[in-house]
Amino acid sequence: MGQTVDIGKRIELVPMDPHFHDITIALYQQGPDESPLFLVHTYSQMEGAQERIQFAIEAMTRMGNLIVTANGMLQFPCGSGHQLACRRTFLESCKLSPNDSAEPRPLQILDRKSGMTITVDSLGQGIYQVKADGEGRRADRRVSAIAGGLLKLGEMEEVDGTLDKVAFPCGHSHDALVGLLLVRAPNVRAIVREQEMAASRGVLAAPSQQN
Ligand SMILES: [Zn+2]
Repeated sequence: MGQTVDIGKRIELVPMDPHFHDITIALYQQGPDESPLFLVHTYSQMEGAQERIQFAIEAMTRMGNLIVTANGMLQFPCGSGHQLACRRTFLESCKLSPNDSAEPRPLQILDRKSGMTITVDSLGQGIYQVKADGEGRRADRRVSAIAGGLLKLGEMEEVDGTLDKVAFPCGHSHDALVGLLLVRAPNVRAIVREQEMAASRGVLAAPSQQN
């Protein structure tokens, strides 16, 4: 049995850690996609490398609210995969230097594109609602775009055709994850969601026909 078999499937990679001698750090998944365990690992034998790995694990527990299992693996409290969000949590955690604090991010951002403050409320059962401190079509569009960004980044689901609510399919709240993903959500192009909605209706236009 090779080591790759034991360690699991690699799902994300930091090729060169800028905060620790450019070592390579990888995120591995073990177990089925529906209920995986995650492993943060480096092959580096450098002194201090394991401390760096421990720092990344600790950062993931705080920034993504993952939990550490008895054997040092990570999983979400709900037991679900959330692979895309887990990979994002891993990457963001590895961006931190040992001097940075790994605090969960607030469920509020300033949306640079609109100048509005965007707030996300947890409605329970894994459902989140995006709000803007503005009114009118412009605010509605930004709310919809940012909800769409969360939907894509967090592999979330639409809620009864609403444009401002998204939900984790596991039915559990993941506030820390939403805070983490919210930073990037405004930059996910709305076109992605439009394509998905169009695809679900069977009217997906060819890229050349989109503007
Ligand atoms: Zn979950």
